[in-house]
Amino acid sequence: MPNPDGPNLKGFLREIHRLDTESRLRKTEARLAELERRLSEMSQLDPLTGLPNHRRFSDRLSQALLQAQRHRGAVGVLHLDLDRFKRVNELLGHEGGDEVLRLVARRLEGALRQGDTLACMGGGRFMVLLPELKDALGAIRAAQKLLEAFQAPFLAGSRELNLGASLGACTFPQDGLDANALQTHAEAAMYRAKERGGGRIECFTATLNQDSLERQELEQCLREALHNGELQMYYQPQFFMDGRLAGAEALLRWNHPLLGPVPPVKFIPLAEENRLILPIGEWALRESCRQMAIWQATTPDPLLLAVNVSALQFAHGDWDACVIRALEDSGLMAERLELELTESLVMRQGHEDVQPLHRLREIGTRIAIDDFGTGYSSLGYLQRLPITTLKLDQSFIAALQAEPPEMSSEHIVRAVIQLAHSLKLTVVAEGVETEGQRDMLEILGCDCLQGFLLGRPLPADGFEALLASVSAKRFLGAHRNPLEEVTVPLPPQPAQVRPRRR
Ligand code: C2E
Ligand code: CA
Ligand code: CA
Repeated sequence: MPNPDGPNLKGFLREIHRLDTESRLRKTEARLAELERRLSEMSQLDPLTGLPNHRRFSDRLSQALLQAQRHRGAVGVLHLDLDRFKRVNELLGHEGGDEVLRLVARRLEGALRQGDTLACMGGGRFMVLLPELKDALGAIRAAQKLLEAFQAPFLAGSRELNLGASLGACTFPQDGLDANALQTHAEAAMYRAKERGGGRIECFTATLNQDSLERQELEQCLREALHNGELQMYYQPQFFMDGRLAGAEALLRWNHPLLGPVPPVKFIPLAEENRLILPIGEWALRESCRQMAIWQATTPDPLLLAVNVSALQFAHGDWDACVIRALEDSGLMAERLELELTESLVMRQGHEDVQPLHRLREIGTRIAIDDFGTGYSSLGYLQRLPITTLKLDQSFIAALQAEPPEMSSEHIVRAVIQLAHSLKLTVVAEGVETEGQRDMLEILGCDCLQGFLLGRPLPADGFEALLASVSAKRFLGAHRNPLEEVTVPLPPQPAQVRPRRR
């Protein structure tokens, strides 16, 4: 008698076998899918740091741009390149260099917000995607935070390393509309930061996009500019907190007969590349000393003239002699001249090369650190070098009243002012544009202000009119009430507000 369970059992066993095979197949499929996912993930990750690589960065950037187009938002792209990373590799070997890159990656990650993408491009380069920006300023703030992340040294093995980075920033939609353009523009801005000595942030400007042909033409024009008298000095007033005029920063202007005004951010880096900054810088120094000596002769209050010095001038053997000659020939007192140097410029010099600084300080010349806070982290030079003034970078002033409060630079500005005062240094705030910023700087104890709120750079005759009105006010004041404080009436200009009287 056939077993009634026979076919059933067989069928049951077959079913089990089928199910088993299916389940194994499914499992295998799941494993394969997982493997595929991981492989695909790995192909989008930098193996050294575990961060997204270039491919994933581009994907995310494209997605972020689609979102931003829909919601009319802004997107930021940063390009960060470690300064002198080749030297780290030489010093520590490639393994040591890799270890440093991992440390840098972790620190940069810690400086970013959730939702931002940090990607590693290899060779000491990183890119950052800031997908939900309120405005272009947000990109600068994020870049600032990344730069601050280099303030503390890195511990690689038993060595302490001080590293720096150059950052380029750009934003959608103002600096580019697609992923490619934005990445190229952030990189171009980063190169500009390198050209300007590294350890700083540069934002993309359309001028960076010029092709080399235009650069060559511009270079040729610049060669002729000095001889053709196309260069001019402008003077931007600086004020004490109580409203008294402190002096002026001399700023170069180039007005080409056909091209029109060429902005300094365009022609000064060019002049630095082809060494034309040497004759141009010397002319700027001599011309502004000559002018200030004339003004000083007719102005009762002492005025300070701040002159920018480029890295190339500084590195040039006889630059202190050149400054002394400009003072002697103009008759301007050394105490009335302040030379503005950038942090990275000062830090790049060996000990022997800073002797001219000491010599100039000995005769009374003041030495300012320009764009303070955007350069190097180790601040030991403030004690080592004869610095008299810190010029707080504009980016800190712009972020003073940023929202949310944790994005505000208030605590940094307060710390810088306290540090400066403890070292008996004067603090000048640059780029003061609003009453709110001015009020806050007053509360924080800043010494001097410079910015569009108080006065834009003026040609010599404009500055002269400003001086005349200061003197007139003084004279009238003397007849009315000798104790009344003098405030500075400024010539009419758009969006101009008088400095406040205490
Ligand atoms: P810098 O030395 O940091 O000069 C300050 C710049 O900020 C000037 O730009 C000035 O016009 C601008 N500025 C002043 N107040 C405000 C403000 O409230 N808001 C904003 N947004 N900007 C403000 P400028 O004249 O275009 O000069 C740009 C740079 O070119 C200077 O930056 C300096 O690095 C360089 N430069 C200018 N003149 C000379 C020079 O004679 N020699 C050298 N080596 N470099 C110079
Ligand atoms: Ca300056
Ligand atoms: Ca500056």
